Amino acid sequence: MDMSTPALLENYVAGQWVAGNGERTALTDPVTGDTLAYVSSAGLDLDAAFTFARETGGAALRALSYGERAQRLSQIVATLQANRDEYYAIATANSGTVAADSAVDIDGAIYTLSTYAKLGASLGDAHTLLDGAAVPLAKDASFAVRHIFRPTPGVALFINAFNFPSWGLWEKAAGALLAGVPVIVKPATATAWLTQRMVADVIGAGVLPSGSLSVICGSAAGLLDRIGPFDVVSFTGSADTAATLRAHPAFAERSARLNVEADSLNSAILLPDATPGTAAFDQFVREVAREMTVKSGQKCTAIRRAMVPIEHFDAAAATIAERLAKTVVGNPRNESVKMGSLVSLAQKRAVLEGIAALQTEAQTLYDGNRDAAFVDADANSACVAPVLLGLRDGAAGKRVHDTEVFGPVATLVGYRDLDEAVTLAKRGQGSLVVSLYGNDALAMRAPALALADAHGRVHAVDPSVAKTQTGHGNVMPQSLHGGPGRAGGGEELGGLRALRFYHVRSAVQGPAALVEALTQDAAELPK
Ligand code: NAP
Repeated sequence: MDMSTPALLENYVAGQWVAGNGERTALTDPVTGDTLAYVSSAGLDLDAAFTFARETGGAALRALSYGERAQRLSQIVATLQANRDEYYAIATANSGTVAADSAVDIDGAIYTLSTYAKLGASLGDAHTLLDGAAVPLAKDASFAVRHIFRPTPGVALFINAFNFPSWGLWEKAAGALLAGVPVIVKPATATAWLTQRMVADVIGAGVLPSGSLSVICGSAAGLLDRIGPFDVVSFTGSADTAATLRAHPAFAERSARLNVEADSLNSAILLPDATPGTAAFDQFVREVAREMTVKSGQKCTAIRRAMVPIEHFDAAAATIAERLAKTVVGNPRNESVKMGSLVSLAQKRAVLEGIAALQTEAQTLYDGNRDAAFVDADANSACVAPVLLGLRDGAAGKRVHDTEVFGPVATLVGYRDLDEAVTLAKRGQGSLVVSLYGNDALAMRAPALALADAHGRVHAVDPSVAKTQTGHGNVMPQSLHGGPGRAGGGEELGGLRALRFYHVRSAVQGPAALVEALTQDAAELPK
């Protein structure tokens, strides 16, 4: 791939590649500062883009059965696999990630698409999904009702965050395309290249009907103005941007559906029985250090608060710090480097400010930046080494529970008893994930239930699942992704549950024979 001459990345709308014709924004290498490409969405005919997707793409997708659309997902998988090396090169250059971290984004997307291809195949020739059995509405059962799902006759607009240019597109598109809803994706500008390139490959492979997939790189201006009552918008990003979106007439007046995945103060809780020297303690320490450093902590699900019984605070601090000290930070092109850079200098500034804000109430237990010697990267790069902060009396903190620092940063938080740990976790006001580490699986039942009402996912680990557990921060397509409250209130993935967002549910009432006939060409949406 030629990275020497920065090109203007084109947008794909209304079945055509179109260059923006206004102000351009540069995409840069966060390690070297080099300009890699430009984007612009200025001057696009957005009315035509949305109409074409809705009418041409939507109609063609809905003419296919769920099983046929699942086959298209398999073809997308094959296309992405064929171009994997190029995606890794783009991720290295534009996101500053080491290969293992690029894999979370790239191979995570491919795995998610494959999972949906398999799940979708189970729906076979169906064009309608059923929601439960028919229910009689008359004493003699002559008149009845059946609930059905039909794909919404609009577009799915994705406004995505910078940290997952690949997975962020495909984890959403898997559900939308399987549902029969055309996709328009607007990637975050800083890392739009990978998204744009993947869309270009899939378009080039001709595996989707025209109008099913569009990409708009650059400013989001005007997109929400085109959103109509049957369109759906899935947003991933900061709580501040989400608040702006929620107030838009597309939702406030036209009642389009909005799914929000926002920031989150996720916790990991070391249970009282997991004393130092036990296997569960080691699992906790390993996971906290791993979560802080994978993708340089730029994961919405990353552990931000690591909670421990106060009496184990010092032991946990020492062992986590010991692990963090082994993290070699720098240019991801150097094979000795284990953790690359943040995605941009703007993010580096935000992370350093966030650390300073937390330091007003938390002590610094480990700061890899103190004698930072980044490998093949200098102080002008977007590299930041891991920082572990600490708050022995977790209940005394405020910022620690409400400030998300989107980088290799976590706070060790002390708690007195399990009730207090649950209370502290909930001070995140609703999070994507909480994980529990204990030596007794059944002892985790009570805290798991107590935490579930404030977390989209509860991840419990004991020594028996040391090798099989999927990781605190890994989002598995089989499990729900999203969280209540501050996490945005959204729901994605969770197997075929994901399809609901892209469907309209309707109660069809009528003569029993009609209600029975609805089952033709239909499949039950598994609960
Ligand atoms: P952001 O600044 O809110 O941007 C997110 C997206 O919104 C970008 O595509 C951005 O475009 C766009 N945008 C910005 N202002 C907009 C507006 N007024 N109208 C419409 N779109 C607008 O968030 P970010 O900094 O990229 O992402 C980091 C945050 O995302 C973190 O807080 C993280 O926790 C969260 N996140 C959550 C999840 C999850 O699944 N829950 C996953 C990943 C990240 P531009 O890039 O062009 O500004």
